[in-house]
Amino acid sequence: MSGLVLAGGGHSHALVLRRWAMQPSKRPNALITLVSRTSTALYSGMLPGLIAGIYQRDQVAIDLRDLADQAGVALVVAEITGLDLENQQLQLAQRPALPYEHLCLNLGAVTSTSPVPTPGLVPIKPLEPALAFLANQDEQMGKQACASSLFQVVGSGLAAVETVLALRQRWPRRPLVLRFRPRHLKPVLIKALREASIQILDTSELNQPEALKTTPGLLCTGSRAPHWLASSGLPCCPNSGRIHTETSLQVTGQHQLFAAGDCAVINAHPRAPSGVWAVRAAKPLARNLEAACEGRPLRSWRPQRQAMQLLGGFNKGQPTAWALRGSRLVGSHPLLWRWKAAIDARFMAMFQRSGSMDSAKAMPCRGCAAKLPAGPLESALEEAGIAELGTHPEDAALLPLKKTLGTAPVLQSVDGFPALVSDPWLNGRLTALHACSDLWACGARVLAAQAVVTLPQTIESTQGTLLAQTLAGIRSALDPQGAQLIGGHTLEARDGIAQPPLSKAVQVTLSVSGEPDPTFWSKAELQPGDRLLLSRPLGTGVLFAAAMDGAAPAPALDSALEQMGTSQHVLLEELLDLQTEHPDAVHAATDITGFGLLGHLGEMLRNPGLKVVLNGPEIPALAEVLTLLEKGYASSLAPANRRAWTLLDNGSVNLQLAGIDSGGKLHQALLELLVDPQTCGPLLISVDDHIAKKLTAEPNSPWTEIGSVQTH
Ligand SMILES: Cc1cc2nc3c(=O)[nH]c(=O)nc-3n(C[C@H](O)[C@H](O)[C@H](O)COP(=O)(O)OP(=O)(O)OC[C@H]3O[C@@H](n4cnc5c(N)ncnc54)[C@H](O)[C@@H]3O)c2cc1C
Repeated sequence: MSGLVLAGGGHSHALVLRRWAMQPSKRPNALITLVSRTSTALYSGMLPGLIAGIYQRDQVAIDLRDLADQAGVALVVAEITGLDLENQQLQLAQRPALPYEHLCLNLGAVTSTSPVPTPGLVPIKPLEPALAFLANQDEQMGKQACASSLFQVVGSGLAAVETVLALRQRWPRRPLVLRFRPRHLKPVLIKALREASIQILDTSELNQPEALKTTPGLLCTGSRAPHWLASSGLPCCPNSGRIHTETSLQVTGQHQLFAAGDCAVINAHPRAPSGVWAVRAAKPLARNLEAACEGRPLRSWRPQRQAMQLLGGFNKGQPTAWALRGSRLVGSHPLLWRWKAAIDARFMAMFQRSGSMDSAKAMPCRGCAAKLPAGPLESALEEAGIAELGTHPEDAALLPLKKTLGTAPVLQSVDGFPALVSDPWLNGRLTALHACSDLWACGARVLAAQAVVTLPQTIESTQGTLLAQTLAGIRSALDPQGAQLIGGHTLEARDGIAQPPLSKAVQVTLSVSGEPDPTFWSKAELQPGDRLLLSRPLGTGVLFAAAMDGAAPAPALDSALEQMGTSQHVLLEELLDLQTEHPDAVHAATDITGFGLLGHLGEMLRNPGLKVVLNGPEIPALAEVLTLLEKGYASSLAPANRRAWTLLDNGSVNLQLAGIDSGGKLHQALLELLVDPQTCGPLLISVDDHIAKKLTAEPNSPWTEIGSVQTH
């Protein structure tokens, strides 16, 4: 077994990570992994303001990826589906289980929807689908001439009141109904609801309006811990599903397990589920996790009997708040809101990078940006006599098989790089997809692969976990293509003890082999009149460079990783299908990797009689990439790649960038985009006009026409 797994990116875990980011000496010396279904965690104190539209999502979202990086903790973005107590494994959706030696659960709660979920009513928890539902409602209302359709909130607790008041702020004229049990709410809150023109309906009355059965709405009907916790065999409260813990926050009867926040309750000191307690549990939890990993005795924690809570509300369009302690409610008053806002801003500021957290600044980039620049590579190839063999050395090459063997031609390629992400499974997958792309760019299906995996010096069980996760990630990329991982080797690094997270010290190199289509696509067979099509946006190099500085927005990294983790073998299959009808459909192809679009396009331009005209505004970039480039962020490989700019201003110009004013900020950003090194980058194909139209006209076509081939 290996390491500590933190399940769920709740408030307690976010603060535990912050402690290890600020004080690395306190972090246990083990492989530590945080598993969360999203790469950000929403801060509960600012939820009403988020729903009201006073805060933007990024203001209330803790960037778990960045925090984990700073804390030396690996981040796995995945849905947890269960727990195998016997084998000490956390089960995950669509990927192998994670083994643990110690496990800590901070998973929050879900809305109680008993007896059965009501159609049209969306539970407020988990939050992400509820927020998506509200965004969808905004869209629906935008399409209507007037926003007059009824919306309901069901629930009798404070969360229901906060939510419906926030919705009044969001939708000033929309009819709103709160369905609740009046005896559960204080008169002062009922008054505030009435003043906000919110209709109040008593759910205990039998004659509920028929229309409400089809009215959309949110369920704020109390919370309970996720059901799978109890079904995994954990000791849970029969009503709330919360896990029973000791005062050490250890799960009762399970000394390798800890739990905190809404999903847990301390037997000796039960407290209602609330963000306040999840926050306060962080310090004792961190101390005891550190002690447990190091075999030291644990300490007891007794939470205060009561904590003051500030409830956000809105009165005539102005934010206001109540102060609640036990059963005493004071307010509402705008000054209480200002106090609340200041406390919330201070909390979020703790997760902004500063001083000692900002250590990664001038670090060299990883992934494909860790490649050697073209200059030293070319001179080394020449010195080694490889450039003199009469052919251009290619990323993927046909094996020089003896004809007498009578075997089909075999195309082979090899690729690899230092881990780009701290999740070993994802890293294995990305490396495999990246390596396969060399073959896809030749029109070849991948048949087999061999891997060399270099692991950090550490205890055997951790090496075993890292290797198993990496190999599973590689297989997740190969299996859907019908390709097999047929062998390989493992190595242990000899460059000292790696920095945490240890998963980032894993290095994968993959040799892939395949059988090319008879119409093998070379890089350089461009034809006059061809159109250049790119299969996906550019910008992974700069995004990950900015991420090391904490400057890449989490949603931009999420969508980049989603793109990178999507296999392009499907595009190859579509192109091969197209070739059955149009045998000469693809004239030339390559994949865009370390040298950037310009560098790889340069390799295609071997015919001096041809030139390529790139249509600047059409070159697609991933979200936020142009902004980051404009701000001056760049991959550490970009300066070397910039030598490809000479292709653009060469006297015998064979590459032109059209459609964009030179000298402007956007022009400069675009030039940088052209030399940005790509990991799992796009395929670039050169096809005639007819095929280009056919490919780009398909619904949801990934292909973008970025330029054309002309005679010089
Ligand atoms: C409208 C509303 C307003 C509120 N306002 C306040 C307030 O003002 N103050 C306050 O103290 N409390 C407030 N609360 C309550 C507060 O949201 C919770 O008590 C608090 O978030 C609990 O924190 P936690 O750390 O236990 O878990 P959470 O903050 O819920 O975090 C749990 C994390 O685990 C992740 N997770 C869960 N299940 C899985 C899974 N299966 N796989 C992977 N990841 C998973 C989630 O994505 C989430 O990131 C409010 C609640 C609501 C609904």
